[in-house]
This record gives sequence, structure tokens and C-alpha cells, in this order.
Amino acid sequence: MNKLSIKELLQVVGEYNPDELAKVQKAYDYADNLHDGQFRQSGEPYISHPLNVAYILAEMHADGDTLCAALLHDTLEDTDITKEDISYLFGKNVANLVDGVTKISKLNFSSKKDQILANTRKIITGITEDVRIIMIKLADRLHNMRTLQFKTPFKQQENALETMEIYVPLAYYIGAYRIKSELEDLSLQYLKADTYHRLEEKKQKLEATNEPYLKEMLAKIQTMLNERNIPNEIKIRTKNIYGIYKRLCAGHKLSDIHDLFSLKIMVDEIEKCYLTLYLIHSKYHPINDKFKDYISNPKTNMYQSLHTTVFGPNDRLIQTQIRTFEMDRIASFGLATYWDIMEGNAREIMQQDLKDKYQFFKSLVEINAVFGDNQDFVNQVKNELFSDKIYVYTSKGDIVELPKGATPIDFAYKIHTDIGNTMVGAIVNEEYAPIDYKLKNKDRVRIITDDLSFGPRKEWLDKVVTTRARKKIREFERR
Ligand code: MN
Repeated sequence: MNKLSIKELLQVVGEYNPDELAKVQKAYDYADNLHDGQFRQSGEPYISHPLNVAYILAEMHADGDTLCAALLHDTLEDTDITKEDISYLFGKNVANLVDGVTKISKLNFSSKKDQILANTRKIITGITEDVRIIMIKLADRLHNMRTLQFKTPFKQQENALETMEIYVPLAYYIGAYRIKSELEDLSLQYLKADTYHRLEEKKQKLEATNEPYLKEMLAKIQTMLNERNIPNEIKIRTKNIYGIYKRLCAGHKLSDIHDLFSLKIMVDEIEKCYLTLYLIHSKYHPINDKFKDYISNPKTNMYQSLHTTVFGPNDRLIQTQIRTFEMDRIASFGLATYWDIMEGNAREIMQQDLKDKYQFFKSLVEINAVFGDNQDFVNQVKNELFSDKIYVYTSKGDIVELPKGATPIDFAYKIHTDIGNTMVGAIVNEEYAPIDYKLKNKDRVRIITDDLSFGPRKEWLDKVVTTRARKKIREFERR
């Protein structure tokens, strides 16, 4: 990558937020001065790192406070200044953000492992205070992963593993797919170098052979849309290497991956997404069971799009993803898109949205409240939130996200404490199911309640996997 300068950062910021330029320049000068004489392992002056982190965030149209915090993010840890100094010079918000991304000092811990756990907890729970802390951490990690070649092999493995275990799930939860897929590919490159390079080569070959067909189809769809005066943009997208790797691990053959190649079709309005779908289906035969409507049923991280896989030119399977321009921004950057959609109080809106719409958030707050010990906290987050999930429907068709192994009892408590406490049975897909039935993807779940029930029984504790259900059952017992 070319060396980045403050000029380029200011240019990007100036395009969407010219009012904050002076503040960003001030933060840069201040950090540059503090890091003077420090170097990265690459040999570059240290300031190149915070500068790159700020640049990644500027590409997502981050607000001025976030950019200043990104530029200052390593000053508390690596130089002599304090949070109060930053607060005095740049305001309380910037100081809180910098403090949020700063590692907890080594001095308080008896072992390195304890310190790592405490820091992991601090990163994960940062999201409950201010989601921008996570965004800065993700950008920080992304730049560190991009420059990981300068570290020792041991550090490379350690960072790649931590990225997969902690940062990739966080990026997924806030819907920041662009960062997520780059982090995945960078990690795989270090964790399984041979596999990565083999797949990269195969992918390039396939891209070359498929390109003419994709281009042909792109042009035809574009013509159809233009004839109907539908404003549009169409891009060719290939699955990331980690995504391909995961499919192969699950036993699929490379030729069977139906979304290896996609056409990403962006139009201006929701109605036109469905019209576009109709136009595509009338020209190319769809595979019926590969159709997904994530517009009417958004993913739990707010991703929206229509997916349909069709028989394209030369009998090749090609997936199309149809969405509005705004949905596409959300698909790339997730929650961070609010920086762009709403100016001013974007932070408050993001934090409120996180509470109201993102299902993982409540679970995270609950796990944080229940588990005092850092090791227990990290284990529980990994098991309950960062591992495989299932998605089931309520009787009204709402989608509920649960960890794998969850039962109707977990489901009932996730919906409402009273439903859990008065539960007497469950109906799954129109049939009675035992209350410890292990729920599966797409199950339709209805809980039978009775106000005269005796309430949850102690044995239920062995039949649940979520922190919330366990906590509520214990609370009922104590009454
Ligand atoms: Mn850093």
C-alpha cells in the first residue's frame, strides 16, 4: 500500500464533513508530536498507524470526534499524556472514546492471560457504552492485520486467532460486512497459508472463466432496467476466500457453491427491487429454494436484500442480490452508516437502535451483568453469542436469534419473562414438542402459557443455554 499522508485524510473528510477539518488537523498534529521518535515494526513512523485507522473510518464517513479519537487512540497507552489532557484539548467525548479503546494497564494483573481477558472484556462491552468504540477498535485491528507481515510468526498466529474469535463476530453483529470479510481473509492467510493461497489461485481462475458470462448477464439486466427508467448500478461480486473455505469445510464442492459469483444490483426504491426480481425471473429461471427475501425479513444485523440464484448464460448458476442504494451502504458498513444517513446526533440514534433492534445487544448486557469473572464472561460470550446461531420464527413471523442448542424455554424467556414463567408447553411447526427440544433453523415456535402454572422448575436450568433464561429461572426460584 502507498504511504498515506494527512492531506489524503483531510481530503476525504472535507468531502463529507468540512466543518471538522481544523479539529482533525489539530488531533493529527498533537498525536504526531507525541509519537515522535516511535516507529512501527515496518520501520515507518508510528503516526502512520493512527493515520490509517482514521482513514478507514473516514471512508465510512465517521464523525469528527471519532476521527480525532482514532488519531489519538494509542497516545494514552504509549505516551505520557492522560485522559484529562485529551479532555481539556478535544472535549470529553473524544477523551471517553480514546479511553474506551485503550488497553487496561499491565500493572493491575498477576498474569498476561488475566490482562488479555480483561482487555477482551473491555473491547466487547465498549459497545454498550458507545458503539463508536467498537468501530475504532475494528479499524485499528484491520490496519494491524493489513500490516501483520512485520510481526513474528507467533504474534501473527495469536492476532489472527483473536481476530477470528472476537473481531469478526463483532463486525458481523453490527453488520459491517466489508470489514468482516477483509478481516476473515487476512486471518485465514496467516492461520492456513497454504489453503489460502490454493483457494486464491482457484478463485482467480474461476473469475477469469466466468467473467464473460457475468458481464453478459450484467449488461442484459442493465438494459432491462434502463428501458424501464429504473436508476441502477450493478457490480460483480465474488465470495471472499474465507467464505469459500467455510463452504468447502462443510462438505460442498467448489462447483456447487451457488453464490460464488453474484451480481449486486442496486436500485433507488424498495418497490423497484421487487420489480427487478420479476424482470430477472422472467428472463432467467430461478432455483426455487435459493430465493431469500431479506427485505421483508431483515437479518438480525439489519442486512436487507433480495437473493435469488438463477440459471445464467451458458447454464451457469449466478446469484443476484437486489437492494436499494441505502441498503447497500448498510450492507457494507452496518450501523456505522448512520453517520451518513443522520448527521448530528448519529451517536444517540446508533445507541438507541442497538438497544431496540439488534438482538445480541440485550444478551450481551445480561451476560455482562451476570458474569463477574472475566474468564467466565469471555467464555459465555464466545459460547452464547460468537458461536453458531439459529434463527427461528415466532407465530407472527418475527425472527428470533438464539445460540445453537437453545430450547423452547430459551425462546420463551427471550420473548418475555412472563411467557417463560407461565410456560407449560411448546408447539413447534404445528406439533407439540418437549420443552427441551433442540430448536432448529426456521422452526416456527409457539409457547403455551397458563397463568395458573407453577412457574419454572429447577430442572429447567439444565435445559437452557442462554444467560437470560438461566437468570430468570433463578430469580423466580428465589421469590
Ligand atoms: Mn492501535
